[in-house]
Amino acid sequence: MRTTKVGERVYLLDTVALGQAGTVSVYVVKGPKVTLIDCGYASSYETVLEGLRELGISPSEVRYVIPTHVHLDHAGGTGYLLKKMPRAQVFAHEKAVKHLVDPSRLIESATEVFGKFIMEAYGLPIPIPSGRVTAVGDETNLELGDGLSATVLYAPGHAPHQIALMVEREKILFTADSVGIVYPNLRSMIPTTPPPSFEPEKLLGTVGLLEQMGSKSLLVPHFGVRKDVLEVFETTKRKTMEWLSLVKEMRDGGTALDQAVERMIVLAAKEGGVRTDEFPVYAKVSVRTTVMGMYQYLARSA
Ligand SMILES: [Zn+2]
Repeated sequence: MRTTKVGERVYLLDTVALGQAGTVSVYVVKGPKVTLIDCGYASSYETVLEGLRELGISPSEVRYVIPTHVHLDHAGGTGYLLKKMPRAQVFAHEKAVKHLVDPSRLIESATEVFGKFIMEAYGLPIPIPSGRVTAVGDETNLELGDGLSATVLYAPGHAPHQIALMVEREKILFTADSVGIVYPNLRSMIPTTPPPSFEPEKLLGTVGLLEQMGSKSLLVPHFGVRKDVLEVFETTKRKTMEWLSLVKEMRDGGTALDQAVERMIVLAAKEGGVRTDEFPVYAKVSVRTTVMGMYQYLARSA
């Protein structure tokens, strides 16, 4: 089973990214206008189609495709899915649109972060026809039919082109990467602060805004449903600032990036309740990306 029911009409679809279950999810709202929130990596798009099939949804029924931001684990598959979804329109933040239409700069910047080898595993995004993308801003309301609607919330900090979505009627909040990563088999949270545009103050502001939405469940990309809403927000704020100050100390002390990454992996493994040699590769990549984003932020703000 690729899909799990997580709300009255909402399903989690595990994209089994790079063969790993429990790492990258997308969500499906099965109202009269079927909506896909996030698309997964380019290399996972067939798994997304399989998941829709499992839910009895044909690709031509999908009307809204909403990559919460343009990072490859959220938007990489968008162009491939659109080719199979003739009636779907993409909705994305106005700062995301240009990268969706022309992903060349995005590919360049992601290759710098992850390297060619990992990029091949993720798959490269393909351009989306500009006529199929609509820019959305704060508080845009999307009618999904049958009285179901989703409100767009601008959610910068993790990335300047990120949105979250609130389905008021069900009190469900799609957080995007405004909250930290908790993989199902690791107990603790890894902050998610990637290059090139992590901004701690904006992230804290976003978390503060989302906290006030009165949601009953959080649908988190990495990974799954959280009912302990306040705990997730509080932990995100605390962990992000704790990691940032540890990383700052290392950077100020002249520690090289690779060494700082190794130290944070040891810490994350300990907090996650596993031995360092058992700490999974995908979680190591998350820690590396986070520390890199912090290093770049600290360099920018020095
Ligand atoms: Zn992500």
